[in-house]
Amino acid sequence: MRKIIKFIVRNIPRPLMIKLSKLVFFIKPFYLGNKVECPICKKHYRKFLPYGNNAGVNRLCPNCLSLERHRLIWIYLNKKTDFFQANHKFLHFAPEQPFIKRFKKLKNLNYTTADIVSPIADLHIDILKTGLESNNYDIIFANHVLEHVENDIFAMKEIFRLLKSGGWAIMQVPINFKSQITDEDPNITDPKEREKRFGQYDHVRYHGLDYPNRLESVGFIVEKFEVEKIFSQNQIERIRLDKNEILYIAKKQ
Ligand SMILES: [Zn+2]
Repeated sequence: MRKIIKFIVRNIPRPLMIKLSKLVFFIKPFYLGNKVECPICKKHYRKFLPYGNNAGVNRLCPNCLSLERHRLIWIYLNKKTDFFQANHKFLHFAPEQPFIKRFKKLKNLNYTTADIVSPIADLHIDILKTGLESNNYDIIFANHVLEHVENDIFAMKEIFRLLKSGGWAIMQVPINFKSQITDEDPNITDPKEREKRFGQYDHVRYHGLDYPNRLESVGFIVEKFEVEKIFSQNQIERIRLDKNEILYIAKKQ
């Protein structure tokens, strides 16, 4: 059974797996237990499902399909913001599956989803050129988008433009913690070459530790949220967070 589960989560592309999420229903009985807990859907399990290629064990919530990065954002929203209480005009690019239904249910949000391709998004727009009104949103999310777009700085500028003064954005990207600077080369278009150099066949860059500086370069004030500062090692293990991942909150003054 373990091999079958590993095969499924490693080989079926995530968008397809989301469509097949009812399949996960049959996997759940094998994961009953109380060693890990998902803060998003509040379910607990013996462990989470594996995900990704490199020893990616114990990562994916069998119920809501959250990964470490989704759980990190959820915790930040709960602990550090009035996201769930105050009224916010909120634009969400490339909306993540564990969040969409939950955000749509929140009556305090004026919530719009956006994606260049996904048919389920409210708006079909390009993050580089949205055509939307300036100074109009309190919150914008665009997670795991900027490593795909031709010019990430242009996209950051566009998000800065769309935010109201006092608004904030979350734009997480994969970061190569071993590199001080972002690695990009528009001449690399071969999917295999991109996978080798940027970590995935459709990534056009691999951001380095200079990522927050790139956000600052377009005018954002960047704040960091680090789980190790608020949780014990046991809690981090139970929720299964990636302690290397820093959440950057990009604020427009
Ligand atoms: Zn969950």
